[in-house]
Amino acid sequence: MNVLQPPNALFFIGLVVYFWIRHCFFVRSKTVKRSVRRVDAIERILLGMMLPAVLFLPLLYLFTPLVSFADYRLPLFVRWSGTAVMVASLWLFWRSHTDLGQNWSVSLEIRENHELVSTGVYRLVRHPMYASIWLWCVAQGMILDNWLAGWAILPAFAAMYFIRTPREERLMVETFGEAYRQYASQTGRVFPRLNASAEP
Ligand code: SAH
Repeated sequence: MNVLQPPNALFFIGLVVYFWIRHCFFVRSKTVKRSVRRVDAIERILLGMMLPAVLFLPLLYLFTPLVSFADYRLPLFVRWSGTAVMVASLWLFWRSHTDLGQNWSVSLEIRENHELVSTGVYRLVRHPMYASIWLWCVAQGMILDNWLAGWAILPAFAAMYFIRTPREERLMVETFGEAYRQYASQTGRVFPRLNASAEP
């Protein structure tokens, strides 16, 4: 079974940690009421495409031979480097959930008393959580030596990121107006801006 290879075993532990972080913040965020919810068909399709790529395909690869037709060989140093990327991704994933606090939601929503967060990792970039998921995509591809289980996440998340991010930013401008525009002018989306002061 693939999960018995050490880099794959670490990936599996990382996957459990990833969903555990999500679960903890999901439970916490349920206590705060929503005032706006923008979950249309596109949003559902985007989220629906992510689940097989993040969860089902890796689990099939780790525990069954069902996707072995897409196996290929990756040098071991690439797979171990991938575990380092995975740890960085998990740290940023946790940190951005912590910084967003009660303002976090899995889809496009505004909570009652929603606050614009521009501190912590949000001081540097507007989408640190999405940055952490980009890192996760790279880590998954570097660790799992299977084209499907390793890389299907990349087009799934690319679609999600490029379609959702402008919608999310429009929602932020509708909610916070000039404050978000100013914050956006001083931060990059997933890479810090080099030519702006760090204070929004
Ligand atoms: N795109 C962000 C947040 C993802 S969670 C990131 O990658 O880190 C999605 C929710 O976060 C959205 O529904 C939106 O309401 C909220 N959100 C996004 N940026 C925010 C910010 N700077 N302050 C407060 N809420 C924010």
